[in-house]
Amino acid sequence: MAFIDIEGFCPICESEQRFVAEGVWLRDELKCLGCQSVPRHRALMVALRMYCPDWREMQIHEGSPVWQGPSNKLFREAPGYSWSFFDPAVPTGVNHPTAGWRNENLEALTFPANSFDLFITQDVFEHVFEPQRDVAEIARVLRPGGVHICSVPIVNKSSPSRRRARLTAQGVEHLMEPQYHGDPVHADGSLVTVDWGYDIAAYLDRHSGLHTTILYIDDLSRGIRAEAIEVLIMHKHPFLPDLR
Ligand SMILES: [Zn+2]
Repeated sequence: MAFIDIEGFCPICESEQRFVAEGVWLRDELKCLGCQSVPRHRALMVALRMYCPDWREMQIHEGSPVWQGPSNKLFREAPGYSWSFFDPAVPTGVNHPTAGWRNENLEALTFPANSFDLFITQDVFEHVFEPQRDVAEIARVLRPGGVHICSVPIVNKSSPSRRRARLTAQGVEHLMEPQYHGDPVHADGSLVTVDWGYDIAAYLDRHSGLHTTILYIDDLSRGIRAEAIEVLIMHKHPFLPDLR
């Protein structure tokens, strides 16, 4: 018997669906039978609809899409959706010579300032070595009033963020036992570089000038229940006062 088997409204399918989890680790197991999405995908989609209701008309860029739930929906339904991955071995700003996708380094995007209404990253910020650079670049390419919607697991619920690994001139230095997550591009998985706490908002705001709200949704009627499915909504101020 399944651990959970319920009906509800899937924000990605936008219809009544069945949500089924065979096991107890709902973050990976509570799937929508309609679109195969998991809770963090549905939480991100709810945030998107709350904060960017006209997302179908927006200029959107996603860094390292997962080609599940929200990425597939944006690809299908938003004409202004674009995406990129990063291979450090080939030039950025152009399509990858063999894989075909656009190659972009989140730490040094080739897009002009003020290019996008909406930037999306899903479970990326726990894998980057220089999160302050990534967020500063995302802030640069957002237009004033633009939004970065970002899923990131807050694993340190009652302690500060802690670095697990850093990049030095000698290579990767592990400060804790190496931990890897599944990665759509790299078969050996993606190293976790930071265990984030709730201070992520202050940290990212400080390095980007964005203003972050952390959204945690627990709503079984939309199939959203799991550990560590926080969504960060990071706003770029629509204007700055000119006080000269
Ligand atoms: Zn669905």
